[in-house]
Amino acid sequence: MGGIGALALALVIALGAGAPAISAPLDAACLQRIKAQAVKEGVSRATVDRALAGAAFDEKVRRFATSQPEYKTPIWDYLAFLVDEERIEDGARMLRRHEATLARVQKTYGVDGYIVLAVWGVESDYGQFRGDFHVPHALANLSCGGRRARYFRSELIHILKIVDRGDVALADLQGSWAGAFGQTQFMPSTYRRLAVDGDGDGKRDLVNSVPDALASTANYLKQAGWVNGMPWGYEVKLPAGYSGPSGRKTRASVSDWGKRGVTHLDGAALKGEASAGLLLPAGRNGPAFLVFKNFNAIYSYNVAESYALAISHLADRLRGAGPFATPWPTDDPGLSRAERLQLQKLLLRAGYDIGEADGRVGPATRAGIRQAEARFGMEVTGRPGRKIYEKLGGR
Ligand code: CA
Repeated sequence: MGGIGALALALVIALGAGAPAISAPLDAACLQRIKAQAVKEGVSRATVDRALAGAAFDEKVRRFATSQPEYKTPIWDYLAFLVDEERIEDGARMLRRHEATLARVQKTYGVDGYIVLAVWGVESDYGQFRGDFHVPHALANLSCGGRRARYFRSELIHILKIVDRGDVALADLQGSWAGAFGQTQFMPSTYRRLAVDGDGDGKRDLVNSVPDALASTANYLKQAGWVNGMPWGYEVKLPAGYSGPSGRKTRASVSDWGKRGVTHLDGAALKGEASAGLLLPAGRNGPAFLVFKNFNAIYSYNVAESYALAISHLADRLRGAGPFATPWPTDDPGLSRAERLQLQKLLLRAGYDIGEADGRVGPATRAGIRQAEARFGMEVTGRPGRKIYEKLGGR
């Protein structure tokens, strides 16, 4: 949410096993001011004290907050681990288990249940991933100094209000370093604005209630402009040597794209007046997509086209569709989560000190990949791709 909360991004910029956190006091005066502000805004003193008891300097939170992704993930890597067979199979199982809830959510909010299911799958691996940080403490670390302190201070007060209202227990507030939490990774302000009670127990508990989490995601997408009955978009075919316009924001009617030579995958003419953008996530030699207004609603959930495409594609795969028809323009495709974990084990077995094999490819793993690439006389990239995977014995 807001481009900083999601598991998807957390994985991309995960720093892996780092140094142990340094224990030091937070800016006590600053924290006192925030506590006073929360009480002034109606939060009980007891809640404020309990939520922030034991809050300490957290080196890891500060490091995540200041680090830039040192590595730009190619779109095919991003899609390979977000939309892998495991997530498709898990999603099919979750669809069976929560079919009635998804149908009800789709009916109530007019939002495609498969898209809601896909958001859940990417944000928290269908509720399996909770995040590594205690949200009030993480936000306390971000609220006193540093970039966007004012924003995080406001989020901290929002989370105190959520706890005070009794929606979520303090012990359940595990989330991202930036404060997003729950099965659909809402930031506290979004939570207060858009979370809904999907199971009718009077609480909006996005941590423990699947119906609450799914209904809240549908509500979010509805508020973001979802149009009932419209697709997110679909894959299309570019004419040879296409040099016309492209981009999510460069919009034209479907039939106008057709006049520029773009066709359905089977060559059939594009017709219709709906407004669409032509998305070329890997340039003119990769897959091409016409994307509609609903793609923008998904985009707003995490403010990245790659994220919106991953959600859209996972939804289609859960619906039974196959992979994209046009391959990514690379001879070194990306790896699934299982293969990433296996790659780490292969690196460890080959003697590269990458820390723990946890499936998260951070700087230590990339350093190991670079060393292995150099030893094999390959181009040194640090990227977890299929070539180095197979060179190390993966299959
Ligand atoms: Ca509820």
